[in-house]
Amino acid sequence: MHRDPSCIFCRIVAGEIPSRKAYEDEELFVFHDIAPWAPVHVLMIPKEHIAGFYDVTDAHTAMLGRMMALAPRLMREHGVTNGFRTLVNTGQDGRQEVPHFHVHVMGGPRPWVKG
Ligand code: AMP
Repeated sequence: MHRDPSCIFCRIVAGEIPSRKAYEDEELFVFHDIAPWAPVHVLMIPKEHIAGFYDVTDAHTAMLGRMMALAPRLMREHGVTNGFRTLVNTGQDGRQEVPHFHVHVMGGPRPWVKG
């Protein structure tokens, strides 16, 4: 599995940088955002280093599908039953800050910090 030793999210997966883990399996890792916009704000990432949405290929469709199926399950597990938002920032104009593909999943009662 491709890993970038200089990538902060690869280092989180490896346990080199601490995180509040919400879920893990053989190909996915989910952790709480360090600067949450909402009462529950998690980041779902592939363990493999994929820099961004532009780098997703047909080889990743099963992994992406598993992520989409996981999001509502995790929200329910965190008590989010009244709706949530999912967001993928891509590239510079998309305001992607961390170059490791990730899906934001945000929910919980409003008001939120932003979003
Ligand atoms: P994006 O702008 O989509 O690239 O979002 C990157 C997200 O990663 C931001 O919401 C950050 O708060 C979050 N983030 C950055 N570093 C960490 C970290 N060490 N642990 C948890 N979340 C982080």
